[in-house]
Amino acid sequence: MLRLFGSVEVKKIRGTTIGDSRRELFRLSGFDPVSLEQNLYVDIIRQNEIAITKLLMPIGYYNDHEETWFPKSLRWCRQCMSVGYHSWLHQFSLIKRCPIHMTELITQCPTCNKSIPFLISDTSLGNPFTCKCGNKLADFAGSQWSTWKYTFQITDECVKDWIERGDKKWGINDRLLFNPNSAEISTFYRECRFTSQVHQHKTSRQNSDIQLTKELYEENKQCFKSIDKYIRNKLLCKHHNCIRVLQELRKLKKGEFPPICPYAYAYIFWRQSILNAQHFYITSKKDHQFPASKSGSRNFVTQLIEETLVDLRDRLSAQINLEVSDTPGLTRMVLNRYTIEFCLNYFHQWLSIAKESAAAIRVPSWTEINKMMELSQPMIVFRHSYEIRFIQEVEVAMSHETNQRIFNKDMKCISSTKRFRKEYRQMRTFTPMGMAMKVYENPSTENKQLSEYVNRYVSRLRI
Ligand SMILES: [Zn+2]
Ligand SMILES: [Zn+2]
Ligand SMILES: [Zn+2]
Repeated sequence: MLRLFGSVEVKKIRGTTIGDSRRELFRLSGFDPVSLEQNLYVDIIRQNEIAITKLLMPIGYYNDHEETWFPKSLRWCRQCMSVGYHSWLHQFSLIKRCPIHMTELITQCPTCNKSIPFLISDTSLGNPFTCKCGNKLADFAGSQWSTWKYTFQITDECVKDWIERGDKKWGINDRLLFNPNSAEISTFYRECRFTSQVHQHKTSRQNSDIQLTKELYEENKQCFKSIDKYIRNKLLCKHHNCIRVLQELRKLKKGEFPPICPYAYAYIFWRQSILNAQHFYITSKKDHQFPASKSGSRNFVTQLIEETLVDLRDRLSAQINLEVSDTPGLTRMVLNRYTIEFCLNYFHQWLSIAKESAAAIRVPSWTEINKMMELSQPMIVFRHSYEIRFIQEVEVAMSHETNQRIFNKDMKCISSTKRFRKEYRQMRTFTPMGMAMKVYENPSTENKQLSEYVNRYVSRLRI
């Protein structure tokens, strides 16, 4: 296509590959606009511009790069693609389902699991509608251009409203705050879960950045502590001893470590990975404490979402007529809510793998953990006002996969047996450090073997 309709400059390129910047589909910058229009009978460059502007209208105050909204890899609907249809709607990152067929969009080739670049094909993509690996997304062998006549109806009501009402749905002072990487269009139309009234503190310009960071860190720590408490005391009240056994590496003097309770497993590794702690086990009371905010360099306890929280804070700051440090209540409310929802989702992710992983005495790799983390990002939209008043109202809307947080009570746990309850009291702590000390004091074969056993066990559970 570029050979036929490309710009003069592109036509001059003699090699077999044409750079990505000439093959992009946003502005079609590799093409000669006149010959494109003459041959397609439509000003497709202008059409693109209109479509993109329309889709971004409701969030016009977001100044993100277009890649945030229109990713560089192809997102498509199997049914639409099978008849050769693809639209900016499919490519728009806030849309996760085909607005015509209501089916989940595909982002990776089902055969090779790789993403397909959203570009005009070059030699590496020799045939139309074909992935590099050879998988055909659609097959038009023998069909005529003239038979490409399909009409499509948008059935997704949210998408319809988003396009039709543009920025008219929300008031001129309304601001929508969300994480573009996890938001989905239907969330904007969810009934608001709750409204918070945030009282504005008296404005004090002296609040420095470092002080704000420190305050946010403290705030985040309290928030995490309360989630931790909730999980331990509300969800896992029957598993306190199981948690102890794993967390303190307890076992009987003779024999192996007891089987791991899946609930204890989920809790302990959830906690370890969130706090980025060195070990899953604890050796002293000190381990229970949180790492201190190093002179304001550390923003949040929940490091896994630190970037997202910083991003939300900065977006909020751009969306109000004050500094975020001048409206700590609002900032706190937004960041805490995001943290709470993330942490709970993430705990349920751990629960979902706990049964098998605990039985196999293994931990997931960081790649798997990152995947779990991605799936835990809450779909949440805060609606607040640009004009900060004394009492600021914030609406929170969330999309919940309702089955995402069902607490499965039926996993087998060690503490339910009488034997465990009896043995539990005789169990002692066997940490690698403690064993090393023992070997140092008395390098007997027995001690050495035990030390090796403990090390092997711990290394199986090292993230
Ligand atoms: Zn479709
Ligand atoms: Zn492929
Ligand atoms: Zn248990």
